[in-house]
Amino acid sequence: MDRRNFFGGALAGTLLGASQAAAQAPSGDVVIERAASGTPHQGKVLALITPHLDDGPFFACGTVAKLLREGYTGYFIRTSNDEKDSYNLSLGETVAANERDGAEFLKTTGLKQMFDLGYRNHRMDDVARTEIRARLIFLFRLLKVDTVFSYDPWGHYEENPDHYITAQAVEAACWMSGGHLDMPEHFAAGLKPQSVSEKYYFARGPQLVNRVVDIGPVFDAKLASLRSCRTMVTHMIRGLNASLADQKLRVPALSGDESAAVHEYARVALESRDRTNGRKYGLDYAEPFHYIGPDQSLAEYVSRNAVPL
Ligand SMILES: [Zn+2]
Repeated sequence: MDRRNFFGGALAGTLLGASQAAAQAPSGDVVIERAASGTPHQGKVLALITPHLDDGPFFACGTVAKLLREGYTGYFIRTSNDEKDSYNLSLGETVAANERDGAEFLKTTGLKQMFDLGYRNHRMDDVARTEIRARLIFLFRLLKVDTVFSYDPWGHYEENPDHYITAQAVEAACWMSGGHLDMPEHFAAGLKPQSVSEKYYFARGPQLVNRVVDIGPVFDAKLASLRSCRTMVTHMIRGLNASLADQKLRVPALSGDESAAVHEYARVALESRDRTNGRKYGLDYAEPFHYIGPDQSLAEYVSRNAVPL
């Protein structure tokens, strides 16, 4: 069973009847977000915030690519230093290799800048969440972030502390960033309160899914984003090859030229996942999210009662 969409299946029942023409067609409790024409998001800012370089490419870089095409400016905030993710490099070499891949990832995706918070990989539960949160609030205000992509702070069965600590810090920072009494020293430096109004949360395990993004038109861009994480993908390939060798097996497409193997592995890893997610909603490829949008609870009251000043 696909743990990731454990809750999503029950909500998805009526989706196949949704309008194919609409950019966003709500159906039941799930919204299918489709490509918009033009650049309706011009002037808006998104931030992808993950502990590891390859988190976004696996779960969100299709939607990030879509929103960048539709006018967003995007930034990448990496909270860990990725020191544990290579096959056979030393710890220091691993940090440097993933840092170089990060530069390639930016070029590939069109994200404008990368901010490295640099906490030790696999040790983020040792770091005060208030410190991570404070650094994120500063960046949200500095960059004027409207929309974030990150791990779901309420996702289930997440084993990696880097994932859930980052997720919790992101969620708290999103609303505190809008408070005029939170870190008022920022205002002396010229910053202003900045509420983050849209959140796209992804998870490795079960989560509440209420938005599914059609990434068919940007699937190649997503593939390219994962291929840019060369050190990490090579780690996965060589780990797989080692376990296959223990069974006296090998996959020729993954055991020859390294570039070709990275190309093949990324295709297989993302195609199977995103196609399975898409099939549930009548799409070729899809990314599911728990989406939290702007608070509209007073919108109707305001539209009925507000008058010009
Ligand atoms: Zn990760």
